Amino acid sequence: MPENISLELVATNELNDNTVAFEFKILNNQQLDLMAGQFIRLMFQQDGEEVFRSYSVANVLKENQDSICTIELAVSWVKGGLATVGLSNMKIGEVIDASAPYGRFCLTDVKWKRYFLVATGTGVTPYRAMKGELFKRIDEGAEVFVVMGARDEPGLLYANEFRENAKINGYNYVTCLSRVKHKNPGSLDFDGHVHAYLKQVEFNPDNDIAYLCGNPAMVDEAYGLLKEKNLPVRQIRREKYVSPPKRKKKAAFGIKGTTL
Ligand SMILES: Cc1cc2nc3c(=O)[nH]c(=O)nc-3n(C[C@H](O)[C@H](O)[C@H](O)COP(=O)(O)OP(=O)(O)OC[C@H]3O[C@@H](n4cnc5c(N)ncnc54)[C@H](O)[C@@H]3O)c2cc1C
Repeated sequence: MPENISLELVATNELNDNTVAFEFKILNNQQLDLMAGQFIRLMFQQDGEEVFRSYSVANVLKENQDSICTIELAVSWVKGGLATVGLSNMKIGEVIDASAPYGRFCLTDVKWKRYFLVATGTGVTPYRAMKGELFKRIDEGAEVFVVMGARDEPGLLYANEFRENAKINGYNYVTCLSRVKHKNPGSLDFDGHVHAYLKQVEFNPDNDIAYLCGNPAMVDEAYGLLKEKNLPVRQIRREKYVSPPKRKKKAAFGIKGTTL
């Protein structure tokens, strides 16, 4: 069950021109039990009403469920966006209301031979969080492919960490750059969108599962492609990074000529 929590901003760190990592402390000695891949909701005020925006927890978590007292998020700015304005004005020491945990974009108990974890932008944070559980599955014989799409090198969020992870046999970090070509491409560096890589993979429905996270257009396109490549729909997990639709103002309800 999601709980209400209060978060104090303790640090920020620019990940690139358009993305900032936030670190919050959970107040009132509360701890949050969550699984890698889950997200929180931050609360904002809009036209006198409380509205939320969702953010995946980026903490590198222990296997299975972890209990945390600080929360890391990676937030990309959207011009004029409600949360963008709110978060970019937040000062260290200020507090924001939130609730958590939410979501089922997590590794399940079913063990697969190959995990294709596809992302654009901040959509890669759930896979950062999954590190502990992924290493365990690799130990048990699985192979992991983190497939990261970005416009250019600075868009490859947490690239150093993923490259470090990829020193482990069985952990592969695939990068796809859509605007600027790789300078010294290795065998897992592709020019183009993530589909440039996915198109040339032979998927095996008995062994493979795919996770798609981030930009909704990428998620939809990759979903279509993986279905065409005979990956069963239940083996394609999706998380689209969208804001909730703006709530319509409640119409005043009353019957003419009567006083309620
Ligand atoms: C489960 C889930 C997890 C998420 N995790 C993250 C995360 O870890 N990091 C993160 O940065 N975001 C994440 N998001 C997206 C986030 O919730 C907000 O949608 C995003 O931060 C924009 O919010 P905003 O209030 O600044 O902009 P809004 O006020 O919602 O939008 C302002 C305008 O920009 C448009 N817009 C909204 N998003 C985009 C976009 N990405 N590109 C272009 N135009 C856009 C809207 O249609 C609107 O017209 C997640 C979303 C979901 C559903």
